Amino acid sequence: MSEGIQGSCMCGSVSYVASGEMRPICACHCTQCRKFSGHFTTSTSSAKKDLTVSNTNGTLSWYKTDSASWGFCNRCGSSLFFQPDDNTKRTSIFAGSIDGKTGLNLDSQMYCESKGDYYELLDVETISMDDLD
Ligand SMILES: [Zn+2]
Ligand SMILES: [Zn+2]
Repeated sequence: MSEGIQGSCMCGSVSYVASGEMRPICACHCTQCRKFSGHFTTSTSSAKKDLTVSNTNGTLSWYKTDSASWGFCNRCGSSLFFQPDDNTKRTSIFAGSIDGKTGLNLDSQMYCESKGDYYELLDVETISMDDLD
């Protein structure tokens, strides 16, 4: 388990610090993740209470789908956060936005049936959304 990460968007307008225990990284091959990121996503998660976001010029935007909200910087387009409507305690953080060493390990993947045909699945355990916290 890793304790504490920090990250930011490409232009630096949005930054964050997560100070608590982070979830191991999970890859998601679902259609929405692929659209949002341009490939499949990889994310960790933080307890909401341990996550501090700084965005003084207000570029952090949320795109709402039927069951979740997707956080991105509307200045540079970086994918940052994923917030399922039914999880009020934790926020997912897209791993590519983490600055420096993560101390984390990618150990699972989900929605494998939706993956693109131009790459192979990862050699890690396949789980379902319900297995994640
Ligand atoms: Zn940005
Ligand atoms: Zn997904």
